[in-house]
Amino acid sequence: AKEEGRGRYVFYNAAQLKQSRDRFEKEGQIRQAVREWQFVPYFQPRVHAHSGRMIAVEALIRWMHPVHGVLFPDAFIPIAEETGLIYGLGEGVFRDAVRSYSQWKHVFPEGFVFSVNLSAKQFYQVGLLEKLRDTVHQAGLQARSFELEITESTVMNLDQKTLTVLHDLRREGFRIALDDFGTGYSSLTYLERLPVDTIKIDRSFVTGLADSPRKRHLVQAMIMIAKALDLSVVAEGVERREELDLLLELGCEEVQGYLFGMPQPAEALFGALLE
Ligand code: C2E
Ligand code: CA
Ligand code: CA
Repeated sequence: AKEEGRGRYVFYNAAQLKQSRDRFEKEGQIRQAVREWQFVPYFQPRVHAHSGRMIAVEALIRWMHPVHGVLFPDAFIPIAEETGLIYGLGEGVFRDAVRSYSQWKHVFPEGFVFSVNLSAKQFYQVGLLEKLRDTVHQAGLQARSFELEITESTVMNLDQKTLTVLHDLRREGFRIALDDFGTGYSSLTYLERLPVDTIKIDRSFVTGLADSPRKRHLVQAMIMIAKALDLSVVAEGVERREELDLLLELGCEEVQGYLFGMPQPAEALFGALLE
């Protein structure tokens, strides 16, 4: 039994060691990837529900890994957040998004918006506002063409620092979107205190909307709240025609999801607008 106990002890340590080594290696790889900039933002259309017109896009980062190919954010964003690499990553995504906007602006309709995800950590980055503002201005663009998406989990730990930065960003002209709406706790208190322009109804309410009267009521309530507060409302993750029809019926004005387009590289999405 003693043997066995010792064996298990050794085994446990080996597994732990491997896990921490893997993580360490991954961190090193992400660090290198940020330095060499192996990332590309993909863009997913956000469309006007009635006309089907593309009115905005959301930038979703992809890692073009030299060995593993295209990697999705879940594979690296959490480690980037834990290690502070998210600062360089976030800056790079924003810089790329601004570059794409300026490259393709001649094909965009008036008022076209690029939406970029911000991690909660980024609110503690010194000079965040100045960096975002300068990037936009140096490209000859305006802050109001950019929306910053923050998740409900970010605002769940809303502190004075985050709130101040949000107000400053908004004053600078940036639009603010509350992402994954409905998934956090007591969302409604944030709406009272936060400077937001848009709420994005989480995909979990949209998936199966056609088969669930309860979901329909919840979505309806969220849309009513958004309208009462004069906010834009976007339904995320729309995959089926029935979902779109119901959202239209409920008065949802903007939609996003595979039904209208997958996230794709700028050339693929905006190049098609040329034709
Ligand atoms: P999110 O901001 O909620 O983005 C929406 C996610 O849903 C994206 O996954 C998108 O590809 C996916 N999606 C869009 N339409 C549909 C649909 O109709 N059905 C389904 N099943 N999924 C759909 P993705 O690209 O893997 O991104 C995952 C998350 O990673 C994002 O969730 C966001 O929180 C984070 N993320 C992505 N890019 C960035 C970034 O540049 N910075 C930061 N901080 N986070 C990012
Ligand atoms: Ca988002
Ligand atoms: Ca979302």
